[in-house]
Amino acid sequence: MLDSSLREILARYWGYHEFRPLQRDAIDAVLESRDSVVVLPTGGGKSLCFQLPALVDRPKSGLGLVVSPLLSLMKDQVDGLVASGVPAAALNSSLSAAERDRVYADLDTGACRLLYVSPERLVGEGGDRFRARLREYGVGFVAVDEAHCISQWGHDFRPEYRQLGLLREEFPGVSIHAFTATATVRVRDDIVRQLGLREPAMLVGSFDRPNLVYRVLPRTGLKDQVLKVLERHSDEAGIVYCISRREVEAMAAWLDDLGHRALPYHAGLDDATRRRNQEAFLEERADIMVATVAFGMGIDRSNIRFVIHAGAPRSLEHYQQESGRAGRDGLEAECVLIYSGADFLKWRRIMEQSGELTESSRTLLRDMERYAAGTRCRHRVISEYFGQPYPAKSCEACDWCLHELERVDDPLTVARKVLSAVARLQQGFGVGHVVSVLRGRTTDAVTTRGHQELSTFGLLADVPEAEVRGYVDQLTEQGLLARTDGPYPVLQLTAAGVRALKGEGEAVMALYRQPRPEARGRRPEAGRGKPRPEGGEWDGVDPGLFEALRLCRLEIARERGVPPYVVFHDKTLRELARWRPSTPAALVDIHGIGARKAEALGPAVLEVIGDYCREHGVEMDVKS
Ligand code: ADP
Repeated sequence: MLDSSLREILARYWGYHEFRPLQRDAIDAVLESRDSVVVLPTGGGKSLCFQLPALVDRPKSGLGLVVSPLLSLMKDQVDGLVASGVPAAALNSSLSAAERDRVYADLDTGACRLLYVSPERLVGEGGDRFRARLREYGVGFVAVDEAHCISQWGHDFRPEYRQLGLLREEFPGVSIHAFTATATVRVRDDIVRQLGLREPAMLVGSFDRPNLVYRVLPRTGLKDQVLKVLERHSDEAGIVYCISRREVEAMAAWLDDLGHRALPYHAGLDDATRRRNQEAFLEERADIMVATVAFGMGIDRSNIRFVIHAGAPRSLEHYQQESGRAGRDGLEAECVLIYSGADFLKWRRIMEQSGELTESSRTLLRDMERYAAGTRCRHRVISEYFGQPYPAKSCEACDWCLHELERVDDPLTVARKVLSAVARLQQGFGVGHVVSVLRGRTTDAVTTRGHQELSTFGLLADVPEAEVRGYVDQLTEQGLLARTDGPYPVLQLTAAGVRALKGEGEAVMALYRQPRPEARGRRPEAGRGKPRPEGGEWDGVDPGLFEALRLCRLEIARERGVPPYVVFHDKTLRELARWRPSTPAALVDIHGIGARKAEALGPAVLEVIGDYCREHGVEMDVKS
């Protein structure tokens, strides 16, 4: 297929001018009827890979069938496609009889090219009749979205996905394409086996998300720390993840009291409330979702500008999934992990109670802990964790590379103080006690044991508690200290720790304090050396016009009963507020405005831009 023809479709229907990495290969696999597994991170643009081929005229094109696990996900995608002029529809239990009849009528006439179905519809009760009907229509390809649901190793196992294997037998000659953001090899292999894929093209994208700025803060005062992040994102959308339902409720209520538009979401709420809160967030009637991990799949809102973790998640996979919900539109977004060593103990307890505490879950937890306490480029750590080398020297998008962590002048001396405190305590106490001794605190636990008499007592008396804890975490991460497992983990010296204490062996790597106070308040895009991907800066964007366009988008969305990001992405609004086009012809040059949107929404948008620019004396058509 000619590149230019595909690009033309991309521009006409989506208003985009370049393919993202691997999209072309994934589209080619569909067009060539070759099975494929496409693994791209959240926001990587998987949907387009199966949507665009449905618009390509080919001799044996047929219907594109998309299996999608969530009704809300389906609805969002179909709404977005229809708004862009793509003949798509969904069949699921949420449709009225009249709506269903209309979809079937479109299928009968061939007016519908892309059909979304739930796995239940396809393989559940009555599925055999439905599949027979599909065979009459002639299916061109099958796309299985969120394909990790098929695997027990995936994080959202759905038993009905298991039966999708029968599609291979019942639709011989039709290629099957699996899409997921879950990276592990085990899940990938499972998908291939369960779906019976034949020599599939394996298209595995980069797991790095360059537009996300990662920061980690030891928890010193959660509320203040959360507010600092919110200050950088007034009126922007974000998620605050908490470990427990109780924490979710408390945090949501507190934010609401402060006047933020925040709502809670967790599995303890009844279905109706959960659905209502999720819809309010997706439709931009709420800015902040405070949630447990239960809030996850199907969060398609593309302009989430920050994700705060008020406690550490249980694995780096979870962290990548959850933080990955930020910045799906490719614009910069901020992911802040606010953690304490206590979070990991909490997880161990939770998993112990639910019988999930296995050797592998312990390892996952330790890896997460290592990330939190780590003092290396966060993008690098995450990429390497998923088995991908990170080529750049600096990401310029994490606390480490933005030089927000301050280096300790004499790390060896500080490390020796910590190590010797552990040694003097006979390697028999936990972090809290070691920190108390180092800081010279006469707690009951210290005085009853006479530990105030130790030579290491008060060696770090003038250092804040979180910082001393940070040193312990970093020395653990560097392999000089280790923590025993069990309900009361005890700090011990490793062989390398003993050598460092004696002044032998390898020197201690650098130690850092997190973060420098002056670094906390700045906007994530400030002070960056390189432009953000896809030109996502605020450079040249008129903020007043951006707001006016946002209101216009909200009105259109309300009128149509769709979420605002289905109307336009933030990136489109920024471009409009930057270039300020005055004519329909100039509109289609804007990212995200294809022919259909220019026709349907162009007049309203041009009016807002014209009125605003005349009123404020702002120049229009500034794109050279
Ligand atoms: P995923 O399903 O992989 O998480 P999506 O398919 O939802 O990601 O795509 C994320 C966002 O990127 C969507 O808003 C989509 O419209 C946009 N997008 C997809 N492909 C491109 C492209 N080639 N250029 C610009 N934006 C794109």
